[in-house]
Amino acid sequence: MEKILIIEDETNIARMIQLELDREGYACDCVYDGEAGLAAALGQDYDLIVLDVMLPKLDGFTLLEKLRRESQVAVIMLTARGELDDRVRGLDLGADDYLAKPFSMRELAARVRAALRHRRVPGKETALAVGELRADRLAVRAFFRDEELALTRKEYELLIYFMEHPGVVCSREQILREVWGYDYMGDTNLIDVYIRYLRSKIDDRFGVHYIRTVRGLGYAFGTADE
Ligand code: CA
Repeated sequence: MEKILIIEDETNIARMIQLELDREGYACDCVYDGEAGLAAALGQDYDLIVLDVMLPKLDGFTLLEKLRRESQVAVIMLTARGELDDRVRGLDLGADDYLAKPFSMRELAARVRAALRHRRVPGKETALAVGELRADRLAVRAFFRDEELALTRKEYELLIYFMEHPGVVCSREQILREVWGYDYMGDTNLIDVYIRYLRSKIDDRFGVHYIRTVRGLGYAFGTADE
């Protein structure tokens, strides 16, 4: 049974989340402040963490920053509605996904399923290569030449998706569906944010040109001869 930690100080919301995720068959623990949340997240082996931003003692961003030094557990952040800065900040710090309050429990459950599904290693070939980029899917690592790329999980998954589709123009909607695993109701800005991250960690860093913007259509991945 997959284990989920809920870190949310609003007890009504925490209880609703727990009820929903219990019903979906997960084993849930709830904690109600940031310090207790960090201790629980580091002390036990959770598959996913639902993390509120506004928390007493330690806010969700600081918690995530500390957590990411030690753990790559899947994290879904709960942010205030409409705070794009908050969403981008959470993703910058390594959150897998975010949900803006108020959200429906059905949507939360769908996001949790998607985040967990994408963590499991698919039963496909384990080694991938495009140009001088390589990925080892068993080890969940990616390299340019001999240098390992420091990617968050979502960046890694996006890279894998591109490496599986070299030279193909992929629309933002298609990337959302395939990499995030749900239909995202129009907010494809998320893809552009992640493309920026990947470009800075691959193209800019190594002076190469893997990710092409195809105006009006989306993105294509590959070296010039692919
Ligand atoms: Ca809160």
